[in-house]
Amino acid sequence: MAKIKNIYAYEIIDSRSFPTIEGRLVLDDGRSVVSSIPSGTSIGKYEALELRDNDKSRWDGMGVSQAISYINNLIAPKLVNASPLKQQEVDSWLIKADGTKNKSNLGANVTLVISELMVKAGALESGLPIFRYINRLYEQIFKTKIPLEKIPAPIFNIINGGKHANNNLDFQEFQIIPSSSYSFSKAYEMGVEIFHELKRMLEYRNANVSVGEEGGFTPNLVTNLDAIEIIIETLNQKKLQLGVDIFTGLDIAASHFYRDNRYYVKDKSHPMKVDEYMDFVKDLVKKYSILLLEDPLNQDDWENWHKLNESLSQEIYLIGDDLLVTNKERLERAIREKSCGTILVKPNQIGTILETLSVIDTARKNNFNYVVSHRSGETNDSFIADFAVGVQSDFVKFGAPSRGERVAKYNRLWQIEREELK
Ligand code: PEP
Ligand code: MG
Repeated sequence: MAKIKNIYAYEIIDSRSFPTIEGRLVLDDGRSVVSSIPSGTSIGKYEALELRDNDKSRWDGMGVSQAISYINNLIAPKLVNASPLKQQEVDSWLIKADGTKNKSNLGANVTLVISELMVKAGALESGLPIFRYINRLYEQIFKTKIPLEKIPAPIFNIINGGKHANNNLDFQEFQIIPSSSYSFSKAYEMGVEIFHELKRMLEYRNANVSVGEEGGFTPNLVTNLDAIEIIIETLNQKKLQLGVDIFTGLDIAASHFYRDNRYYVKDKSHPMKVDEYMDFVKDLVKKYSILLLEDPLNQDDWENWHKLNESLSQEIYLIGDDLLVTNKERLERAIREKSCGTILVKPNQIGTILETLSVIDTARKNNFNYVVSHRSGETNDSFIADFAVGVQSDFVKFGAPSRGERVAKYNRLWQIEREELK
């Protein structure tokens, strides 16, 4: 049985040109695994802390050398000779060593890189692909089996706005979701073909076809609803039937345009108070047959999340990202208060795989849906694709089918479909 010989971390650059952490775990038989950590741009107020140096003399203040030194000098020496199969013990130790609710001592980027290296090394030692190892880990820890049946349906973010683009759209993500009745490879093909058709439609209108942080186009348009209209025209052009072959979704990321008790969106000439704004949201859900709606309201407004959920929960997946931040306590509150029915799951919002699996366990036990997601700042690591399959996420959100760091994840799903889950 192999033991951990060494763990070390170093800085690499992510898809947004900011430093992030990559780590290597070496086993005493010479085999090794590598993992790197994503990072958000539109960060929820209640996410776990991402440790950065804030030292303006290097990497514009975005360096992670302090985090690296915690790994190399404090954590790694304690794990030498440990078994790579001790995921639960190591994650519990990291949680305890940090000792805070939001990883504000060590940093969630520090704890997560160790946690992911453990998963990858555990999978290697067990002779399993990562997604099967995660599935088994879940069963061992939570004593329930998740049958491995499907590749989760992809959510493609084909127009980027908000904090993910420098265009004038307030909503952050304009999405398409091929029907889950299609195989992953067919859904991927549809996503790619729609992406190219949308490019042609935008070119025809002389709109910008450069892509944003998550690989979607970043046109300047008159209103947010114009972006949805253009997507629907594209689907019509491809002869796809909305609500049958394909669905639409939005990550509104509303906390980022909410201030002074008002929502500021370019679709209205005046800032809206919450009641008027909720009517606006409900109208657009109806008008465009929206299937997935993420963060339509400010992350602190539990009362109105409940109201909106009461009127929309039968029709759509109402998703909490900034609201729930992969945090078990916030998820439990959402379950109690019926604030929404779906949680977005991003391991770096909480900082260990054990805690992420525990959030999924709580969701599953309460018939809450979950969607595993990338971050806007990514590397070519495809860990999150294996994670999503291992826990049989309802959907996956990895951005547009464009840009290397996005397609690394989609291509991994495709590989799993081709080679493992036929
Ligand atoms: C999101 O808001 O869902 C998202 C993936 O973006 P970020 O990583 O910037 O939070
Ligand atoms: Mg979001």
